[in-house]
Amino acid sequence: AKLLLMLAICRWIVTVGLMLDPTELLLLGVEERLSVDPLDLESASLDFGGLHRAEPWAVLHPASAQDVAWLVKAAYDSSHGFTVSARGHGHSINGQAMTTNGVVIQMSSGSGERRRLGIGRPVAPRVYEKFMYVDVWGGELWIDVLRSTLEYGLAPKSWTDYLYLSVGGTLSNAGISGQAFNHGPQISNVYELDVVTGKGELLTCSEEDNSDLFHAVLGGLGQFGIITRARIALEPAPQMVRWIRVLYSNFSTFTHDQEYLISLHGQSDSQKFDYVEGFAIVDEGLINNWRSSFFSPRNPVKISSIDAKGNGGVLYCLEVTRNYGGLDADTIDEEVDALLTKLNFIPNTVFTTDLPYVDFLDRVHKAELTLRSKGLWDVPHPWLNLFVPKSRIADFDRGVFKGILGSKNRTSGPILIYPMNKNKWDEKTSAVTPEEDVFYLVALLRSALDNGDETQTLDYLSDQNRRILRFCDDAGINVKQYLPYYTTQQQWRDHFGHKWAQFYQRKLEFDPRHILATGQRIFKPSF
Ligand code: FAD
Repeated sequence: AKLLLMLAICRWIVTVGLMLDPTELLLLGVEERLSVDPLDLESASLDFGGLHRAEPWAVLHPASAQDVAWLVKAAYDSSHGFTVSARGHGHSINGQAMTTNGVVIQMSSGSGERRRLGIGRPVAPRVYEKFMYVDVWGGELWIDVLRSTLEYGLAPKSWTDYLYLSVGGTLSNAGISGQAFNHGPQISNVYELDVVTGKGELLTCSEEDNSDLFHAVLGGLGQFGIITRARIALEPAPQMVRWIRVLYSNFSTFTHDQEYLISLHGQSDSQKFDYVEGFAIVDEGLINNWRSSFFSPRNPVKISSIDAKGNGGVLYCLEVTRNYGGLDADTIDEEVDALLTKLNFIPNTVFTTDLPYVDFLDRVHKAELTLRSKGLWDVPHPWLNLFVPKSRIADFDRGVFKGILGSKNRTSGPILIYPMNKNKWDEKTSAVTPEEDVFYLVALLRSALDNGDETQTLDYLSDQNRRILRFCDDAGINVKQYLPYYTTQQQWRDHFGHKWAQFYQRKLEFDPRHILATGQRIFKPSF
């Protein structure tokens, strides 16, 4: 089998015109890591979205940052040229980590490929208790970062809702969840990176050193380099979480309360929540909604008993948490009550549960296992994530939740809505957000199902997404896509707006041959 693999690799080398002597590969020891195994190619051809497919020539399972640098340098120096795409856990929607004319570097080992090849993760997380940070491999999954830091009673500050995502993958976007109003996105909680640029150089960068590369890579959609190490800020890990949901039928009351809660970000811990999110309930059952399990049959209030008809049939759920444990366990009831009395939710719609911090952070994985068992995980996901400026969120509600989504729809997935403070985002990074102090994430995280319901098909949901974007355009609502997907460079210019010139300049500097992350469709390879 090894001989066959070597033959395949040699054929591949000839094909791409690398002109490398195969013995050089042997000397480098990458022959076991550069794979043309159909299973590896298949896995690198797919992503969570399930909407695109692109097969690479080969897949590299790097054993170190040097392996990554070696491959990118080979691509950069090659006379014919080929592309290199880092793939974290492949949880993109639109083929962002794929390539057809080059090699995918499989940074995460989560899906088992590395284990099959007998290769462990390149470097285990290393916690520096004294300095309150952890150094992790770029392909590390956040769940494993959490497990490692908890051994020291520490945890990262800013999260995503789901932890089976790679550090490099979320830092290439932003990494947001209900903590972002307070701590900023994950890209605001990184001290230092090791990055392999599109020229194959392995550089360390931070606010102080190679700062342009540092800022370029954060939120940079993989365009400037491959993150091989990230130094992530930590805090003492909470023990327990009080998780609370309350319901609203009035959108402006709901957003008023959310905005009030995120305005408390400067207050002491006891005077604010640790996490603020929310979601829309556009059908009565929350069926297939990942978050439905929270409303257990023991809850005193049935959602269907609340009259939302006067409100276009839409309800809104505010979701907040308070961390506690140790000394403050005695005061949690009092502090939470004091915060809740300031809110104007529908009386008697308070749903509360207490759980360990890890279980809260890992909540979506639990839902994943349930959906998997029903065959509802590996289905197409035509997701749409938008940042909506605060000043237009009411127009968005009228046009989208009560308009486009409001009638004859069932929600095959959650629709999240929560605000963030722009001052927690560093303007120098590549991430793009609306030009207002507060903006909302609206995340339509829907699954396409083939169950005979026309409103759940891929075509229907994709068409709805297009209508939502057209509505925003026509109404002059300057939304920015999060996890953006565009097909023309003009659309990308519009997306980046005043940041485009800098983005373009940084591309020239750090990836002049446009080798990296071509699946984002921003730049065409220059060979
Ligand atoms: P991939 O899909 O593998 O890659 C994404 C992009 O990053 C590609 O362009 C790739 O080339 C590039 N890339 C990957 N690794 C590196 C690296 N080491 N260096 C440089 N570039 C790299 N996002 C949030 O912010 N908050 C959430 O709460 C959230 N929840 C999610 C829940 C689910 C179930 C899913 C499927 C996605 C969710 N996301 C969320 C989106 C997620 O953050 C992005 O899709 C992210 O890119 C996925 O990480 P990944 O490791 O799978 O990246």
